[in-house]
Order: sequence, then C-alpha cells, then structure tokens
Amino acid sequence: MARHPLDPPGEACGVFGIYSPRQRVSPLIYFGLSALQHRGQESAGIATSDGNLLTVHRDMGLVAQVFDEPSLAALDGHVGIGHTRYSTTGATVWENSQPVHRQIGDTSLALAHNGNLTNTAELAEGIDGLRSTSDSHVMAESIARAVEDGRSDARGLENAILEVIPTFEGAFCLVAMDQGRLIAARDSNGFRPLCLGELPDEEGYVVASETAALDLVGARYVREVEPGEVLVIDASGVRSFHPFPKTNPTFCVFEYVYFARPDTRIGGVSVHAARQRMGVRLAREHPAHADLVVPVPESGIPAAQGFSRQSGIPYGDGLVKNRYVGRTFIEPNQLIRDQGIRMKLNPIPENLVGRRVVLVDDSIVRGSTTRKLIRLVRSAGADEVHVRISSPPYRWPCFYGMDTGDRSTLIAANMEIDEIRDHIGADSIGYLSVDGLVESIGNGEGHCTACLTGEYPAPIPEDSDKLLLEKTR
Ligand code: 5GP
Ligand code: SF4
Ligand code: MG
Repeated sequence: MARHPLDPPGEACGVFGIYSPRQRVSPLIYFGLSALQHRGQESAGIATSDGNLLTVHRDMGLVAQVFDEPSLAALDGHVGIGHTRYSTTGATVWENSQPVHRQIGDTSLALAHNGNLTNTAELAEGIDGLRSTSDSHVMAESIARAVEDGRSDARGLENAILEVIPTFEGAFCLVAMDQGRLIAARDSNGFRPLCLGELPDEEGYVVASETAALDLVGARYVREVEPGEVLVIDASGVRSFHPFPKTNPTFCVFEYVYFARPDTRIGGVSVHAARQRMGVRLAREHPAHADLVVPVPESGIPAAQGFSRQSGIPYGDGLVKNRYVGRTFIEPNQLIRDQGIRMKLNPIPENLVGRRVVLVDDSIVRGSTTRKLIRLVRSAGADEVHVRISSPPYRWPCFYGMDTGDRSTLIAANMEIDEIRDHIGADSIGYLSVDGLVESIGNGEGHCTACLTGEYPAPIPEDSDKLLLEKTR
C-alpha cells in the first residue's frame, strides 16, 4: 500500500503481553492493544496459548478492524502477546504484520517487537534459507535456530532467547511466548518504553509499551522493564535476567514529546506533565506578543497549556481534529486532496479572526503539515501566526524505531531557522532547546537526542543512505 499523502511520518509500534493462569486472555489483549493503537495503525495481531496449542491471528488495519467476536473466541488460552504495527523496516504488507510464528519441533514460538534493529542485515547473512528480512522475522529465526540446537532442554525458548538476544543491536522491546510462558525483553539502551504490571487478586502479570495499556486492563503498575533486562513469566512467577553487557540508558526523548499517550507515565514521569513543562520552558525561551495560544491537537495541547500559563496569554481552541479519518486504505480523489489538511484539522474562525495567534505544536519533521496549517489559520482570519515548537529542530534520521525518512526530507537539515519560518509562512518561529527539553522531562536519566544533535548513542547501519543530504530546494 502506498503511503497516504496525509500520513504523518512513521511511529514506533505497540506491544502487549499477558500471563494470567485462571482466565482467557484474548479479550484483555484486545483492550490492551486498543490503548496502544496510537503507536501503530497499519496492522494488528494477537497470539495466545492454552498450554498446548498456540494460535495467531493478525491482519492489516486497526485493532477494531482486525478482531471481532469470532476471531477473539478462536484465540484460546491464558498466555498471549499482541502487537500494533507501523512499519519502520520492511514493506507495508501482510507478511510483515506481527506476531510472527515459528514451529520448532514441539516448540511453538510467537514473537512481536517494537523498535528497529540496526544489524538486521548482518544477522540475516548468518541465517541461510531466510524467508523474510524484516527484523522481527530475523529475530524469530535466530531464536528458532537456537531453540533447535538445544531441543532436549525443557527451558528451550528461555535459554535460546538469553543466548541469542545479546547479538541484537539497536532499539527493541520484545514480547515472545511459547505454549506456556511469556518472555519480555528490552534492549540495553532502553530506547523504547516497556513496563510490567500485575493483575488484581494475583491473577497474573502484564507487560506493555505504555502504562495506559495497564490501566485499561486493570493492572497495577509494578515497574519499568529495565534496559537490557529479560523477564520470563510463567507458573513460577516473574524471573529477571540481564544477558547484555551494561550500557548507559538512552531513552527516546520523542516518546515524551510526541509518541506516548499523555496519560502514560514513563519512569515515574507523567508524559502530560512533561509536555506542559516543555511549554512553560518554551515560553521562557521564545516569548511572543500575541492574543491567543492555540494548540495543534492533540499532541500540541499540553505544551500550549504550559505556554499559556507561563506567558499569561489566554489559551483557546482554534483547530479541531477529526479523530476518525485516521489511516485510510482509500486513496483520496482530487477533491479530497485539495481539501488537504482539512481532512484532519478544521479551524474555528470565530476564535481566530483578528487575533495574533501563538500556534504550538510538538515537532516539525518535513514541514509540510505545518505550512498547510499556517495557511489554514490565516485563511480563518488570524492576523499573525507565531509558531512555537516544543522540541528542538529535527535534523537527523532516527535508526531506533521511528521512520522519519532520510535527511533530504527533514526541513531543519536543509534550512536555517529563519528560512524555515519563511518557508512555512510564520511571522515568527521558536524551537525549544535541547537542554530545555531534557530538563523538562526531568527524570535525571540518560536520553537519546540523536535526531536533534546527530549524536547516535548506539551503532547505526554502516551502509545507510538515510544520512545523505541531497535535497534540491
Ligand atoms: P510536518 O510539519 O513536519 O509535516 O508535520 C509535523 C506534525 O507531524 C506535528 O504535528 C507532529 O505531531 C506530527 N507527527 C506525525 N508523526 C510524527 C512522527 O513520527 N514524529 C514526529 N516528531 N512528529 C510526527
Ligand atoms: Fe528518539 Fe530521536 Fe533517538 Fe530516534 S533518534 S530514538 S526519535 S530521540
Ligand atoms: Mg501533532
């Protein structure tokens, strides 16, 4: 499927896993995935097992499109994993939906992950007869071969994962299972979030990309899965392993800026509160003379609230998001294309006319959305548009799970700040500083800021042409 012209750049995926010995888990996985829908709308999948038979159902589309009562009823058992996908590597096709499944003798393996391996090509070279080069298939195949080598071992999958996982480089949060146990793992940099929760009445355990998914299934937050940690969850409870050499954690700052749900907490920090602090700091770093602070919904809302609070400029709605247009399989015709951005955001002229507006958004990647938005806000009657962005200029491609394309597509890699202002048609522009961002997150831990600074905290693929800068303006 071609990328829809209104599609935003790629995003990280969502993963969910559950072990709950006294109940059928597929409905809980369904609800968990629905809380992670924002992390990937391209495909969804669930694998469950009753201890003997492992079943997988996956397809293209939203969680609610992929699953219905009969398909959930067919997913029997007390242990399971689920996934929502947005492609970061590999084409947008059914074969790349997850969980992936492999049968090795008596062992059924299902696996799903969020993130992006940076050494997929090297790993793939070592596996002959590989059917697919998507990183989840490469991981599954590596693990499957290790299971095969130690087949007589009762702890086959567990040992295989512990043996193979240190060879995986890059960003990944992984959930895997065999017929009877759930395994969760996080790369040693801890780029992407993964947390552990406990179901009430000792009904079992849950792992999820975000705490919002724990809330939805009534699980109590226990802790983050640590960077470099592997958890094995089965009848004997939760066991923890650390098979990786120790690395300094570098958590993705964009989880706080844009990806994660505002009602998620990461490492004890509320994402919503962090976004508000970014807005406060942004107002200090880049004040504006204006009448109204208007967020670009939804991700710009908390930062706009913080900006308003700090600046004393009233906060008001100027744009309404159409939540239901989403990712569509329908190619838009010319009429809809001409409507452009209005399919997703429509202005409220009554609030904009004659006003000097501070337009607050979380990020500018390609600049095309922002440019259209400014035109829209002006056409609705705004006198001035002062753009304030609650993250620093996005200048470098991400290799750790967010597909923002190569450098030629990144506006801040190709233009100076005042050129960006002119290109998008703003009266003024201000970006949050890197220090301002990290201090607004404020949990004192290490962060990845590679897309802002070019300082990559973990190896990146050697032959990548993503770093090329050949844009012709
Ligand atoms: P642009 O002006 O670069 O075309 O679009 C910027 C908008 O895209 C922002 O509102 C931001 O919230 C949204 N956006 C959508 N997907 C992504 C993504 O994967 N990363 C980032 N940083 N922003 C995204
Ligand atoms: Fe996050 Fe940017 Fe690092 Fe990618 S490069 S992990 S988007 S901070
Ligand atoms: Mg946005």
